[in-house]
Amino acid sequence: MTRLHQNRKLCYNIPMRYYSTRNKNTFVNFATAALTGLAPDGGLFVPEVIPQYPSAVLSSLGTMDYRDIALETIKPYVQGEMPDSVLEDITVSAYPFGAPLVGVGDRLVLELFHGPTAAFKDFGARFMARAFAYLRRGEDKPLHILVATSGDTGGAVADGFFEVPGISVTVLYPKGRITPLQERQIAGLGGNISALAVEGSFDDCQHLVKAALADEALKKRLCLSSANSINISRLIPQAAYYTAAAGRASSGKTDPDGNATPRVELGTRDWGLGNDVRKYNESSTRLDTKQRSLVPSPQSPLPIILCVPSGNFGNLTAGLYALKMGAPIRQFIAATNVNKTVPDYLDSGEYQARISQATISNAMDVGAPSNFERMAAHFSWEEMRRIILGISVSDDETRETIAQVHTEAGYFLDPHSAVGWKGVDKLLAENKVTGSVGILSTAHPAKFSETVDPLTGPAPVPESLARAMGRTVHSQTIPADVSALLEML
Ligand SMILES: *Cc1c(COP(=O)(O)O)cnc(C)c1O
Repeated sequence: MTRLHQNRKLCYNIPMRYYSTRNKNTFVNFATAALTGLAPDGGLFVPEVIPQYPSAVLSSLGTMDYRDIALETIKPYVQGEMPDSVLEDITVSAYPFGAPLVGVGDRLVLELFHGPTAAFKDFGARFMARAFAYLRRGEDKPLHILVATSGDTGGAVADGFFEVPGISVTVLYPKGRITPLQERQIAGLGGNISALAVEGSFDDCQHLVKAALADEALKKRLCLSSANSINISRLIPQAAYYTAAAGRASSGKTDPDGNATPRVELGTRDWGLGNDVRKYNESSTRLDTKQRSLVPSPQSPLPIILCVPSGNFGNLTAGLYALKMGAPIRQFIAATNVNKTVPDYLDSGEYQARISQATISNAMDVGAPSNFERMAAHFSWEEMRRIILGISVSDDETRETIAQVHTEAGYFLDPHSAVGWKGVDKLLAENKVTGSVGILSTAHPAKFSETVDPLTGPAPVPESLARAMGRTVHSQTIPADVSALLEML
């Protein structure tokens, strides 16, 4: 840590500064980092220091409301640019749903799919939309946001920005390569959200967005920004659910919240630790052979290990921020599908980006995870190896896991969450983890019913997804050609 960093730690109350992962000498404020997305040098914005939670917050995590934890998490990152009262309004309106930690068999599952598009990306997108609206107050030129998606991001961003005044969004998606539900989430809203079906791949969509953002003539005409997963304003609010889950697990208390959305649809119940353990499925005896003591004794609670199904590694990076801020987390597991660039790096110390391979957990089909650059800005290889265990899971293992967990515990996992579950199985079998383990469930199983239903029978469909399925798709098809996109804009 440099002198500069140490000094800044002492003056917690001054506004946070952000630098590019490719240039540690130039700083911008939160508004600039958020509204520009990518740094001009192609790097990713990172906070100059990771702030610490006040000890009063850490000691009451077990009983705090999710929105208050979100407020405490985000506050130091926007200090001086967003008054506490505004931030409070934003967290209350962004998170009418929580992040319940439930017991399933002998595991804990952190359900991150109770937002409107049923994947964890709602947590980042809904904060980002509200923050953008506030940061651009008083501007009369509308902001135009371009976003390329392979499926989940587009829906979350579209939903987050829907009807936000002064901002319009164009989502580019690969035609015919996203699910019908995802297409309706993206192209069914209308209003300030436009959808373009690109005749090409996700990479083509991403290329088009980058080309448009770099087009000088277009930049003169429109106020442009992007909202992909490298935006720091999507990442910071995600740290909150790690802290909430870790706090609940180590406090030994049942969370009073996390249940803003009724979870009867999946038959889940709150998990109370300590003497009042209520399991998801009391009659699940078949898991007993593998049963381990996951419940920390109230006298010596062991901080939790959290397993994160990962692709672009934005989610895990948010977890690392939560850990550095002081959340009681022992370690992370980075579970990937066969696109195992990061697990291989953790093994060998050599980072080798690859071409991605298609899998059934397709939101994690990333061969060159962009957030790795952020991880490397904060941690050395040795540090990362201490904090993160890497593991990779095949499609066959993923399918087996979905079927097995459904049979044994009556619980539906989506393919991404199943990668996390199986990753934990494998590390337990190798004796690489012990103690309390939680798995982040990144999407609702009904979102991937094409894969899940044949293995389990139909997964229950949450109301928000049923509503989205009823929408009509309004999108325009364009060739994977920059001039076609420029014409549309
Ligand atoms: C985006 C996504 C992931 C991967 O998250 P990263 O932050 O890119 O690592 C995992 N699961 C689901 C369902 C997703 O939508």
